[in-house]
Amino acid sequence: MSAQSQPSFKVPLGLAPNGAVVHARDADKGTPYVCPACSTPLVLRAGEIRRRHFAHRADTGCSPETALHDGTKRRLAAAVTDWRAGIGPQPVVRRQCPWCDAAVDTPLSDHVSSAQIEYRTSVGRVFDVGLLDADAGIHMGLEVLVSHRVDEAKAIALGDLAWIEIEAASVIEPAVWPALRVVGHVSSVDCPACAERRAGRREQTIAIAAAYGLPDPGPDYLAVERSCWKCGLKSPVFFWPGIGDRREPPAPSPRTVMVRYSNTIQDSYPSNGCIHCGALVGEWFLPETLFENYDEPDAIELNELYFPDPTPGPVRALRN
Ligand SMILES: [Zn+2]
Ligand SMILES: [Zn+2]
Ligand SMILES: [Zn+2]
Repeated sequence: MSAQSQPSFKVPLGLAPNGAVVHARDADKGTPYVCPACSTPLVLRAGEIRRRHFAHRADTGCSPETALHDGTKRRLAAAVTDWRAGIGPQPVVRRQCPWCDAAVDTPLSDHVSSAQIEYRTSVGRVFDVGLLDADAGIHMGLEVLVSHRVDEAKAIALGDLAWIEIEAASVIEPAVWPALRVVGHVSSVDCPACAERRAGRREQTIAIAAAYGLPDPGPDYLAVERSCWKCGLKSPVFFWPGIGDRREPPAPSPRTVMVRYSNTIQDSYPSNGCIHCGALVGEWFLPETLFENYDEPDAIELNELYFPDPTPGPVRALRN
């Protein structure tokens, strides 16, 4: 009885006789592949490369989800084994930069020396794949998402253990792990494009300060220029983390930044003043002052840095 005449479903991954899990794209016609989950023989449908898949008999109790989940676990574990055997690249955790959406790859830690499928942790929960250090201790877990995210009960039970969640359907290369969620151990996203823009803003701040005879205000500050509402002359305006929520400016602050009393809101708070006439730069001008100088993705990052409090208010109006 051939699989062609049976009701079937499509699966992307097949297990070769040598134990390798292979994507249908990379499969060859002569090899007898089976389902990584249930060992049912698969039939390669080798049409156009992008549409290649395996046909899996439908009457086996297996499912496309189970086959993909099992196959992906094996592929991720094999990527670690191949890397350690010197026959594959070092796996990378791929995340999106939260500011510019660029893909940023972080190499897997050199502490990882092996991978074990279905690893039972000390807290009783099972990782789809456990990444182990040289002493066979758990370094990090991999959770493969097919249809269900790691639920909060499990996330809490895992406690201090480090793990990443990977969507099976988005794994193309076995050593490139697109992470939906990263808990512990993998450093924060370090985006080269955003680092370069940050360096540019820093240079601009130093240049603006210098143009008004002020020293470098330090890396916490960002300077832009704005015309004073009172005297009409251009003046530097300094931003510091949380300025929109009236947080204290880091010391030493530029001399134009000090606590002033605002008649408008009848309260005192740290504010910018005009370098020529001392007039207060009202806090409701701050977002427009900043965002007329910066477009996305700078604006997204700067908004979070300078106006982090989600409470609605006059300062937030422009961006929310
Ligand atoms: Zn199966
Ligand atoms: Zn970025
Ligand atoms: Zn002025």
